[in-house]
This record gives sequence, C-alpha cells and structure tokens, in this order.
Amino acid sequence: MIQIQNINKSYKSEDNETLALNHVTLNIHEGEFVCIMGPSGCGKSTLLNIAGLLDLPSEGEVIFQGENVVNISSKKRAQLRRNYIGFVFQSFNLIDDLTVYENIELPLIYQQVAPNERKFRVEKIMDKLQISHKKNVFPTQISGGLQQRVAVARAVVSQPKLILADEPTGNLDSERGREVMEILQSLNDLGTTILMVTHSTAASDYASRIIHLFDGQIVTENLHKGK
Ligand code: ADP
Ligand code: ADP
Repeated sequence: MIQIQNINKSYKSEDNETLALNHVTLNIHEGEFVCIMGPSGCGKSTLLNIAGLLDLPSEGEVIFQGENVVNISSKKRAQLRRNYIGFVFQSFNLIDDLTVYENIELPLIYQQVAPNERKFRVEKIMDKLQISHKKNVFPTQISGGLQQRVAVARAVVSQPKLILADEPTGNLDSERGREVMEILQSLNDLGTTILMVTHSTAASDYASRIIHLFDGQIVTENLHKGK
C-alpha cells in the first residue's frame, strides 16, 4: 500500500537544521495494523505526515498505491488523501463552527457522495460510536473523549483504505481509549490498513507490527505476539 524508500527529512531554519528522519525505509502492506513507537522528538509525527501525503521527504521516495507521490502535484496528492486516507489526530482538528454532524459529514461532501447516502452513513457511524445524541452541538461543547470519538467518526465515515492515527487514545481515559482501539480493530478486521503512532502499550497491543523509532531511525521492528 505504501512504500517509503530510504527517506530523509530535514527541517531547516536560519541558524540550524534538524534531521527528523534519517534513511527510513518502511513498507506497509494492505490490511496491516502497524504501530510506530519511540520517545518524543524521534520523528514519529513526521513519518506519519509523510505516509499520509501531508508532507514530503527531503530525499527518497514514497510510493502510494503504486504511484510515486513525491513528484506529483500537491493537488493530485490532496485528491489521493481524500480518496484513500482517514486521519485521526490527537488534537482532533475538528471545525469549531460546524456541528458534530456537519464535521462528520464533511469528508463525504468532499467525495461528492449523494445527500441521502451521506445522511445514512453519518447516522450509522454516529450510532456505532454512541455520539448521536450530540449531533447538533458544536465540538467545543463536548468533552475531550467525545471529541475524539467525533474525530474517529469523521476519519472512518468515508470508508478509507488507510487510517492514520496520531495518539488516538492520547486524551482519553483507559475505558474510552479501549473503545477507540476496538473501533480501529474492527475496521482492520474488515481490511482497512492502519498506521498509528502511540506511547501507550495498551494501544500498541492491537497492532500486528510495531516499529521503534529513535533519533529519526528505525531501530527495531517486531511482529506482535499472538498475531
Ligand atoms: P515525534 O512525533 O516523535 O515527537 P516529530 O516528528 O514531531 O517527532 O519531530 C522530529 C524532530 O523534528 C524534532 O526534533 C522536532 O522538533 C523537529 N520538527 C518537527 N516538525 C518540525 C517543523 N515543522 N519545523 C522544525 N522542526 C520540526
Ligand atoms: P507529538 O509528540 O505528539 O508528535 P509534537 O509536539 O512533537 O507532538 O509536534 C506537534 C506538531 O508540531 C507536529 O505537527 C510537528 O510537525 C510540529 N513541530 C514539532 N517540533 C517543531 C519545531 N521545532 N518547530 C516547528 N514545528 C514543530
């Protein structure tokens, strides 16, 4: 699904340069549930942003669904993102002046899904995530746990082939965190590929492969026990 080949990523400013990723190679196959772990600042978010076509490497190649995405236009990359990828961020990125319902509906509007089909899908996912009772309120009026569930609903409503999650349980208590992980697990069981960054071993237990990053390099990769 994604082949990341020998990439470097550096951030330059006037007085210094940070090498956030250093010769990283990673292949993610369709249907996998991959978890990236490592200390703060080791490059996890950078890697996730590149895998999600939100950012480009400074060097190296990224092949997404067989297509080299480094040299294509940003418009084409945005199209691939909309058609294939759902994002769940720790900071939710919900739109404050849209209701819960409207936030979840947005990816379907981008994909030009017909109104009656949109309504059906939004209501189904709100029901599954138990947020239907909040559909007409705004994100700032609900708790962090509920906001995270709205963010998950928005990420999965368009039935993306790939879900990228950055600390999806980061702001949740263990029970709410488990609910979010079980939703990701059930999507993975249905064939959705998942790439997740987390510090939580309770979350990484759901992965089939764990990658450890340190100082911008992959230091170990293991297949998860029991998978
Ligand atoms: P992690 O997600 O593991 O905490 P990041 O990918 O956010 O790591 O960051 C890796 C390194 O790159 C850090 O040293 C961080 O400060 C730096 N970095 C990340 N984003 C930027 C940016 N936009 N500009 C400058 N430096 C950045
Ligand atoms: P996390 O550890 O959860 O990834 P960070 O605080 O490292 O969170 O990064 C949050 C965001 O800030 C990321 O999108 C990253 O690219 C950006 N960022 C991180 N470090 C820097 C930096 N030194 N300069 C500018 N942006 C940064």
